[in-house]
Amino acid sequence: MTRAGGQTAQTCGRPRPGLRDPRRGSRGYTLIELVVAMAVASVLFLSMAAILAPVYRTYQRTLERSDARLIAENVLDATNAFELVITDEARLAGLPDSAKRRARAAAEAKGVDGFRFTLQAPSYLPFVKYVDDRELRRTMYEAFLAVGGAEPHDNRGLIREILAKRREAANVLGYRDFADYQTEPRMIGSGARAAAFEEELAEKTRPHFEREVAELERFAAEELGIDELMPWDVSYAAEKLRMARYDVDEEALRPYFPLLHVLEGLFDLTERLFGVRVERVEGVPTWHPEVEVYHLTHEDGTFLGSMYADWYPRESKRDGAWMNGLVTGGPTADGFEPHVGIIACNFTAPEGDTPALLTHSEVETIFHEFGHLLHHLLSRVPIKARSSMSVPWDFVELPSQIMENWTWEKQALDLFARHYRTGETLPDELFERLRRSRTFHGAIAQMRQLSFGTVDLALHRDYDPASDEDPLEFARRVLAPLEVKPEFARGERLTRFTHVFSGGYAAGYYSYKWSEVLDADAFGRFQEEGIFDPDTGRAFANEVLAKGDSEDAAVLFRAFRGRDPDVDALIRRNLGVVAGAAADALPAAEADG
Ligand SMILES: [Zn+2]
Repeated sequence: MTRAGGQTAQTCGRPRPGLRDPRRGSRGYTLIELVVAMAVASVLFLSMAAILAPVYRTYQRTLERSDARLIAENVLDATNAFELVITDEARLAGLPDSAKRRARAAAEAKGVDGFRFTLQAPSYLPFVKYVDDRELRRTMYEAFLAVGGAEPHDNRGLIREILAKRREAANVLGYRDFADYQTEPRMIGSGARAAAFEEELAEKTRPHFEREVAELERFAAEELGIDELMPWDVSYAAEKLRMARYDVDEEALRPYFPLLHVLEGLFDLTERLFGVRVERVEGVPTWHPEVEVYHLTHEDGTFLGSMYADWYPRESKRDGAWMNGLVTGGPTADGFEPHVGIIACNFTAPEGDTPALLTHSEVETIFHEFGHLLHHLLSRVPIKARSSMSVPWDFVELPSQIMENWTWEKQALDLFARHYRTGETLPDELFERLRRSRTFHGAIAQMRQLSFGTVDLALHRDYDPASDEDPLEFARRVLAPLEVKPEFARGERLTRFTHVFSGGYAAGYYSYKWSEVLDADAFGRFQEEGIFDPDTGRAFANEVLAKGDSEDAAVLFRAFRGRDPDVDALIRRNLGVVAGAAADALPAAEADG
């Protein structure tokens, strides 16, 4: 911003502190003058620190960048260097046909006979989940864990180096450690608070975790003949137990979720809750004929902006689903400048008479991305840099994740989940199985996420990179109490932990669970006051969606929820139990499935 020149001239005329005024002779400075001088000096010092910090942050990132890139490359190269080729199809008993077909095609592409498996997720995950042959599962599991842990793709030295550089950078800037340095601008505020959060959640998860593990061990022994559960048995046995207890075929749900109905339901919900009307508009130029354009208008008459929706895959299009804010608008002197945002997905396109039919998790995806879009389009912050999604990193998923909750409420599903041919709503029995499958092994899954978050924080807070201790051994100790069995803990998990060593999640892995707590707890208010309650919806829109980063995230949350986030909300949702209830006091149906 440019200002009138006169003011600048005045500031230049101020006597500089620390210089002796010759007219004062030997008397020196008065007390007031000294206080003023010290105040000015400290302001200057503070602003130097303020200037220096981002410069140093950039420098630190540059220092790290080459190590981070090497770590990611090692993981990629080691992953690609491995293959398991099986020529005897009988050894693949248990593996679904779709996985076999992919393995056959992968072998053909390499000009070899049989079935070729790799450590890439689409090949590895079904393998350890379904293949009956225990030795083969073990081979794959060990190979997966060995990635990044041996020459020529060894990450062990790089990990220590990167931890040392991070600690040094944090210390130079006056932080105790890298976790404090990373978390200070975030909602959680400090490394200590992040660690306490992980600990509290782990402690509350533990009794349910132990119950689930005991049940899994019993099932493996009784039904699968696995007397001693090993790490390569966990997802295999869990899948068999899930099939026995809660089998839900995602594909069978598709006919109930035609994209068009899902959108109608979502827009209906948006109008009820937030007072925002969403309407399709025709004739707007787009980058592809399949792209749809919608206008969002607030009940106060404000035209909030446009959403461009690109639903189906194309060859030149990126994989996955995402939302982008293309134009950030906001209040102006003479009204409101509309926002523009896009949602992109890769859903199965309509074919002939069959419309685009979604799985339940794809329905969740739409609700999620639309939540981000609402955060962008409902923003009413005059300063664009503080608008919409420029909130702290561990707060940005609240508006998106909260929307997913409605896809788990029967009342909300009845708005739109209708069979595309018969018009029948989702049968209660099918919904009940779906709901129960959501919390299946909730504690085991939660503990696994907590083990990643805990080891990430411990490495950046408690591990001393200058010591002789091997970071892998340190990690093994931290992980032991969080594993299915303590002896399953393996420090090798670090050598492929690219999230933290090359993906920007350093001292930030906690945020996955943190944002889940935020959305579960915020949704709790809707559960208390009604999932269609317009006042609660308006409150969420006004206190969170409209505010962007114009206020502290903790203040925004408190303004909506009336208090700080409560982890018990997540225990209830993910584990399907009342927080604090002793595991053995649960009703038999809950404990035995
Ligand atoms: Zn998201």
